[in-house]
Amino acid sequence: MPLFVLLLLFAGTAVISAAPSVRRGNAPRPDVRAATENRKASAVSDDEEGTLYEGRENLPGKNFGADWPDVTRIPDMLPARTVQDGPDRWIYETQHFRFTADAPIALSAIKEIARIFEGTYAANLALPINSPCNHHQVNESGRFNACFFEKYEDYIAAGAVKGSAGVFIPDGWGRLQHGRVLVPFGSMGLEKRGNRYVKGGRRVDAKTLSHEITHHMTIGSYAYPMWFIEGIAEYVGLSYDVNGRVNFGGNKRTIGEFVAGFGRKGGGGRAVGREPKVGMTLQDFLKWKKNFLNAPVAPQVGYGLSALLVYYFFHLDGKRDGARVKKYLEIIQNGGTLDQANEALLDGRTWRRLEKDICRRLNSAMKVEPQFLPGPDGA
Ligand SMILES: [Zn+2]
Repeated sequence: MPLFVLLLLFAGTAVISAAPSVRRGNAPRPDVRAATENRKASAVSDDEEGTLYEGRENLPGKNFGADWPDVTRIPDMLPARTVQDGPDRWIYETQHFRFTADAPIALSAIKEIARIFEGTYAANLALPINSPCNHHQVNESGRFNACFFEKYEDYIAAGAVKGSAGVFIPDGWGRLQHGRVLVPFGSMGLEKRGNRYVKGGRRVDAKTLSHEITHHMTIGSYAYPMWFIEGIAEYVGLSYDVNGRVNFGGNKRTIGEFVAGFGRKGGGGRAVGREPKVGMTLQDFLKWKKNFLNAPVAPQVGYGLSALLVYYFFHLDGKRDGARVKKYLEIIQNGGTLDQANEALLDGRTWRRLEKDICRRLNSAMKVEPQFLPGPDGA
């Protein structure tokens, strides 16, 4: 059964559309070792890359015990390089990404754009949730693929949806290596000078790009429900700062204000208000696996609440160490059912008690109190 997931983030009001049909099952474990070795081999065989990964261990299942990151940075941004210079494709690479464009882009612009990609990679690598970017690698050169399109209509023709500023498309079960982020030149502020595109004056929506890149780093072939798929993409994207830096430590205010208000500094937001009506029970929301555009919940509330729930389970629940959500993710990553995973999340609590705790702690931390429909267990 082919896996097809389409996730995108619209420009402007930042509405996201998502239509995933994620298959449950294990990560492709047999590939893990080869992928890890491949990454090391790639690093040592390439003089430009030196020994970036020497001594670093990112093996599956090993990263749940890492500390929650405060601020992440690109450890060592090496020069972008040109792999193919036309005539019909232009290919550029950085440490972990291969960018394929249908028109020439100046290396200086590639390097600037690549900071968003490499910074988002570093951020996801650091989160102690054992995301696929810890152990899946990607194309034949050990990199994640991204494709850039000069004309918006060619971006749409490649599988993106009209109105989106960027999109992530994974191609199938166990085939994360073929997944790719698609971005039109316009979203990256590129302008033509002479025969190449350079970085123009227009602002780049790095948070949107970081959201899409996070899908590539986190989804893999795992059967996450929608709240986590979109919530983690929002959590990282909204934490993206500048120059590849991701400020997790300062994201409480950013996320709360983006979701409930319109965001600071005119940065857009979901504007769901302080008491958003969810239109679903907590249990149904946590089990929802389809597009938020066709859910009982309003899309803006769906994405906003997903970000809040990721924040809650990472930083507010229990001893505020994310222990329950780590167990939850581990169960899903090992092919367990969503019901089994939810048992770990509940950890002996009724749904009603969990709901009360979520509302109380989110209200106290972010002044947002979601209004769920009454659940079956005595609510
Ligand atoms: Zn998304």
